[in-house]
Amino acid sequence: MDCVFCKIAAGEIPATAVFQDRQTYAFADIHPKAPVHILIIPREHIGSLAEAGAEKRALLGHLMGVAGEIARQKGLAKGYRVVLNTGDEGGQTVDHLHLHLMGGRQMTWPPG
Ligand code: AMP
Ligand code: ZN
Repeated sequence: MDCVFCKIAAGEIPATAVFQDRQTYAFADIHPKAPVHILIIPREHIGSLAEAGAEKRALLGHLMGVAGEIARQKGLAKGYRVVLNTGDEGGQTVDHLHLHLMGGRQMTWPPG
């Protein structure tokens, strides 16, 4: 499968790894939109949240927990944002489910 994030998780495309475990891989976003901007992905290819069935709920929860753990490691004590863009109208541009962990600056609401 020609998926850039599968290739990153497999080590076939270089990335700045931040965290990894059996189920997940986290790396620096190549075009950071905040001082801390990390992507957290499942190693398993899931196209988007819209494609994640009930059997993926534990994995989705694990991804969220990893985001919180990385935020603690990065010292984001003043706050941060976790974003999951889904589909065209959701602004998803890479079709492998990923969480954005963003922090280190004041976030605004609503996002664009
Ligand atoms: P989204 O628009 O939610 O699908 O987010 C995709 C994100 O992946 C964007 O923030 C891109 O900057 C990032 N991205 C795309 N290719 C790479 C790559 N090779 N390494 C790191 N981040 C990437
Ligand atoms: Zn993939």
